[in-house]
Amino acid sequence: MKAAAFGYVRATSVDDALALLAEHGDKAKVLSGGQSLMPAMNLRLIAPELIVDIAGIAELRGIAVDGDILRIGALTRHVDLQRSPEVALHAPLLAEAVAHVAHPAIRNRGTLGGSLAHADPASEFPACMLALGATLVVRGRDGERRIAAADFFQGIFQTALSVEELLVAIELPVSQKNSAHFFHEFARRHGDYAITGLAAQAVIEGNALSSLWLAFFAVGDRPVLAGAANHLLNTLVTPALISQVSVALGKELDPPDDQQASSAMRRHLAKVLLGRCVATLLDRPELAEGLA
Ligand code: FAD
Repeated sequence: MKAAAFGYVRATSVDDALALLAEHGDKAKVLSGGQSLMPAMNLRLIAPELIVDIAGIAELRGIAVDGDILRIGALTRHVDLQRSPEVALHAPLLAEAVAHVAHPAIRNRGTLGGSLAHADPASEFPACMLALGATLVVRGRDGERRIAAADFFQGIFQTALSVEELLVAIELPVSQKNSAHFFHEFARRHGDYAITGLAAQAVIEGNALSSLWLAFFAVGDRPVLAGAANHLLNTLVTPALISQVSVALGKELDPPDDQQASSAMRRHLAKVLLGRCVATLLDRPELAEGLA
């Protein structure tokens, strides 16, 4: 199938793109890497009248460290994240997650901003943003808004972006001393969207977790930051505690049933991931067995 007829404009600057979006409203769509937009158009799931191609706007590219903030331009491609020494050093969770996103051909064109704006609940990057406490920088004709990742994702393919705004950058706090991360997903084949996944970031003090952010994905209409993590903070983690927390996690999650997996199976996989995550972070393999 091919896309319905559409107009095309290559924006020359952020201001130019914003003027086009203001003029055409919900009849226009932004094009970054095209790896989600073009399939959706070819399948005629959407039929925008105008494509505003922002891929040539240099201002939206690049990765830089400014004090304790790692700033990533929205047009930074998946492959750029994978190759970046700054991302490897300051956001190793993100560096590890990239290898699970699609395949090399898609990672060569897909962008971080495009993935976040697309907001697929089974996607790896939105969950990483929650675990890392990211701020998403959004620009409209009236100026910039900074939105916490936890407020940005609002449902399946739904975000806090208005049709007249662009996501311009992502800001991450640089990884602290004693921080540790965990990333794992269950998928039918490597590179497929996850059936259930977990991106986690922690700070370890002594033998305990002093902070822990557990962001599950493919378990709801958006990535979920699990409140159950709080029970694991500043205490001696035992198999019995993991078992209790996995019960709490099971009650907290409400995963969907679909052709990939039942709700019960996703809930079970999330509990398995919880055990493996804490066991890995604390380097105590026996904790992976403490499931309810
Ligand atoms: P585009 O396709 O250009 O745009 C996506 C959406 O975001 C559009 O609605 C567009 O208007 C909007 N948009 C783009 N940029 C901006 C911006 N700066 N501001 C505001 N709105 C914007 N992704 C995963 O996470 N995990 C996977 O396992 C995975 N597997 C894939 C497998 C295949 C076969 C394919 C084709 C894609 C897969 N993807 C996967 C999606 C891929 O990661 C996409 O690249 C990504 O989701 C979208 O990035 P993009 O730059 O291509 O955005």
